[in-house]
Amino acid sequence: MKKILITGAAGFLGSHLCDRFVNEGYHVIGMDNLITGDKKNIDHLIGLDNFEFIAHDVTNYIEYKGNLDYILHFASPASPIDYLKIPIQTLKVGALGTHNLLGLAKAKNARMLIASTSEVYGDPLVHPQKEAYYGNVNTIGPRGVYDEAKRFQESITMAYHRFHGLETRIVRIFNTYGPRMRLNDGRVIPAFMGQALRGEDLTVFGDGSQTRSFCYVDDQVEGIYRLLLSDYAEPINIGNSHEITISEFAEEIIKLTGTNQKVIYKDLPVDDPMQRQPDISLAKKVLDWEPKIGREEGMKKTFEYFKGLSQEELHKSEH
Ligand code: NAD
Ligand code: UDP
Repeated sequence: MKKILITGAAGFLGSHLCDRFVNEGYHVIGMDNLITGDKKNIDHLIGLDNFEFIAHDVTNYIEYKGNLDYILHFASPASPIDYLKIPIQTLKVGALGTHNLLGLAKAKNARMLIASTSEVYGDPLVHPQKEAYYGNVNTIGPRGVYDEAKRFQESITMAYHRFHGLETRIVRIFNTYGPRMRLNDGRVIPAFMGQALRGEDLTVFGDGSQTRSFCYVDDQVEGIYRLLLSDYAEPINIGNSHEITISEFAEEIIKLTGTNQKVIYKDLPVDDPMQRQPDISLAKKVLDWEPKIGREEGMKKTFEYFKGLSQEELHKSEH
């Protein structure tokens, strides 16, 4: 049985990846310090023979006695309000955490895949974004802690690949959504869903003309799965290329949820990228992958999840 260590296992993407690899028959070791994640995302896996959970902060030395075949490094605060609230931890998990995990991968002769992000392109001046674009990041802006941690993460990963011959993979993830997103993480989808369900107005930041392209979680997991098993070591975009403005998106959510609330406008956060759309031609060519789930279907599934939360969870204030 192949063994895989998944960091950030109690988070949104990490927990879906644990599900996928458990179902594929791997032995999965989930690691998390629960700083932005929630154990309830993996409760259903606890007790299975091929799943174990280790509570650990990956910025500290990681000891694992057994052998490992693969490591997926997904631990990191991932929403703008999280990394603004815990900027140093964000830098540390991208830098020190990645270094520790690369060291572990080297010691175990394991293949390591890191979760990079479309944020390495910053507020992009090239559209759509191809992997060859170097990006436009404000290093000292409030989002810089996340963007630069991820850029460093890519650099140190390529250095281990080139210098130590380690097998590495880099996925540049574009806005991904689905069940298990944290209601109060500030990202636009949980924000709008929570507002609609609580009967509050939907908060659009800026004039709403900024764009994003939303990928359903199952498509993202499939892309990551294929990338891990491929022999492609350079960064690869995984996302959905259907782009929409945030104000149009708010209208879609109003229709989907049937809320009577309206849109209200708030200040645009500093360095909020004005446009974002992945060029996924490389993933199509190298991985024979493209997204299968459109926004309408994906948003319906996501709304079902948020509707299923208790009133207490729905009204719980930000931790
Ligand atoms: P998430 O906040 O739901 O999950 C992150 C998990 O990492 C949490 O469970 C958290 O407790 C854990 N974690 C954070 N710091 C840790 C540390 N030092 N040690 C151990 N565990 C730690 O976020 P997510 O959306 O699931 O994102 C997962 C990964 O994917 C992140 O690396 C993120 O940067 C990347 N990513 C996500 C998206 C997206 O749209 N969801 C887009 C681009 C990149
Ligand atoms: N956004 C918004 N209202 C909200 C939350 C976010 O208009 O309540 C906007 C945000 O300014 C950004 C877009 O939605 O332009 C996507 O934000 P998110 O935090 O989901 O992801 P990211 O900016 O990292 O792509």
